[in-house]
Amino acid sequence: MLVALAQPASAQIFISSAGPTPLNRYVDSLNALIETNGPISLVVQPCGAENAFWDNAGRITLCEEIIHKASERRSRALAMGQLSRESIDQTTDGEILFVALHELGHAVIDRHRIAFSGREEDVADQWAAWLIMRLNNAPMYVGAMNFFMEPARLLHIFGKRQLTDEHGLNIQRRAQLVCWGYGRAPAGMQPFADHAGLSEARRARCAEEYQQLMRNTPEVFRAALKAPRSRNGYGYGYNSGSAYPPPAPPPTPAPRPSRGYGYGGGPAIPEIPEIPEIPEIPPLPELPPLRY
Ligand SMILES: [Zn+2]
Repeated sequence: MLVALAQPASAQIFISSAGPTPLNRYVDSLNALIETNGPISLVVQPCGAENAFWDNAGRITLCEEIIHKASERRSRALAMGQLSRESIDQTTDGEILFVALHELGHAVIDRHRIAFSGREEDVADQWAAWLIMRLNNAPMYVGAMNFFMEPARLLHIFGKRQLTDEHGLNIQRRAQLVCWGYGRAPAGMQPFADHAGLSEARRARCAEEYQQLMRNTPEVFRAALKAPRSRNGYGYGYNSGSAYPPPAPPPTPAPRPSRGYGYGGGPAIPEIPEIPEIPEIPPLPELPPLRY
């Protein structure tokens, strides 16, 4: 039987689960940050396999098997005794949260008809990685990366929209997640870059890829983000400790040339807005290599 846990009246994301989940710790922050355009139920239930999906209506299902797998990994890490319990718990949370946020990304893309280029899977990953980066918590980001550290396990997760070459795509997505982390904190993330086989050429681009993630994701998802609480506080209420400037106002469209690009009578194409400088984000702390 599903039990609806207590939620504030303003909530739009509701968690239903037979018991507490790590997601309960973050749902208030997500409700403060995200405009879901109608309620979304996040249901944790057994499915018979590791999986998670958005039903294109109002429900995200997160299979309990995902939480069980993360818990097993947590137990193994605790038994090894190399890392603190706190750090391991955060890593476990990060792994589960990443899956839920990825599916939430699909949900808000649907609800707001978010325009993007490329694969929707990649955009949902960007959304989830951006949100976790804003927590400024290295173990949680490691948890997110853990999801892609066992590609064989992932063939059937996230794979519904990937009809061909799922294995290769998951390896690419793992490399992308590692690259963002490496771009932010090269020293701490080096073991993961080694494990993921990131080439030197790719590593050299990761700082810029990280900057693009932090700069572009809130622009792409602007419609799904609540307005900043205050001009001084910036942030979207998700993590007041990590200041992020509000998006620049849209530019005045440039006058359309009388002749020229073959767009006929269509609307003028606005110039690409200048990208605001992003403030310094503190580096993630150094991490020991994880071997579990
Ligand atoms: Zn997906």
